Amino acid sequence: MINLNDTQISNLIKFRQTIHSLAELSGEEKQTANLIANRLRNLENFILSENVGGYSILAVYDSGKPGKTIMFRADIDALPIDEINNFEYKSINKNVAHKCGHDGHLTVLVGFAEWINLNPPKSGKIILLFQASEENGKGANNVLNDIAFTDINPDYVFAFHNLPGFPLNEIVIKEGTFTASVSSMIFRLKGKTSHAAEPENGINPTYAIAEIIDFIKELNIYEVEDPDFFLATPIYAKIGEKAYGTSAENAEIHYTFRAWESSLLENNLNFIKNKIQSIAENHQLEVYIETLDVFHNTNNHSEAVNLIREAAKKTNLDMKECQLPFKWGEDFGLFTQKFKGAMFCIGAGENSPALHHADYDFPDEIIATGISVFKNISILINK
Ligand SMILES: [Zn+2]
Ligand SMILES: [Zn+2]
Repeated sequence: MINLNDTQISNLIKFRQTIHSLAELSGEEKQTANLIANRLRNLENFILSENVGGYSILAVYDSGKPGKTIMFRADIDALPIDEINNFEYKSINKNVAHKCGHDGHLTVLVGFAEWINLNPPKSGKIILLFQASEENGKGANNVLNDIAFTDINPDYVFAFHNLPGFPLNEIVIKEGTFTASVSSMIFRLKGKTSHAAEPENGINPTYAIAEIIDFIKELNIYEVEDPDFFLATPIYAKIGEKAYGTSAENAEIHYTFRAWESSLLENNLNFIKNKIQSIAENHQLEVYIETLDVFHNTNNHSEAVNLIREAAKKTNLDMKECQLPFKWGEDFGLFTQKFKGAMFCIGAGENSPALHHADYDFPDEIIATGISVFKNISILINK
């Protein structure tokens, strides 16, 4: 399948397990980035830029000959989840664990770098991006705004995510929107306290919160086949204090919203913001609205998808074309809004625990597959 022998594969598995045991949260991936950079420093054909927009790393291979610039990206951050697995490489950091498999994604990219170093392409450029802060939707934007990225203008961008519930090593692909556009919002309302015996002398935000909940619930379009699919998930709410003699003054409610396209999501969110402002006004409340964790939809370009299909075929992998996008958000989406590219998934096994579950672990069996597909994509583009 790929020119990696058993020793190289078991070496990569060991590396993945070391990264797994030292899991770090988004924005705090210092040690993870150091381990990656230390390993890449041995590869004389690459030039490294570290601390790109945080702890992201760029590794650039330039053949010096004309050709396409291809960027491959892996995410490197872990999640605030307490691992319940008991294997020897269990995360040593309490409440932090690699429960999305980014330890595996980055290992594939390291393995691919080592392959390129031994088999340097004769034309074009390869950019390997080890991206920090994927889970909070900040990393891609930080990388794009870093000076180290200024001169990088990829012709193509590629990434993969492992996918539990699908057969091991199956390639899952779709043209157009592949993952949803997702954004979270906090609505904070400020009224006025009064004695609980005289609520009419204060401004209690509770009834405005009730209106907001009803209003937002009506906006849901649950049918995933509908291009206007829109899902508003309530995440957190708080009203007043546990002081039974006082009518509430402050309230806040948090939501996560998703739609298939960033433009539709943005329109809906503007509509929601305006409506909430007028609800607050009607109740004489002050309102503060905060937007966070923005993920653009991954927009898979047909040409890039074709390259993935061909690369998978060359590797003799089963392929599944999905009809509908995935409902999760993926920070890689921002790159596909700016550059031609695509994300695909590699089946992590039908019995694998789901992503973000406390018992999940990246399946090492798909490391060679990931490297092989990346390798074939790069060969197809820069022949
Ligand atoms: Zn995740
Ligand atoms: Zn992930």
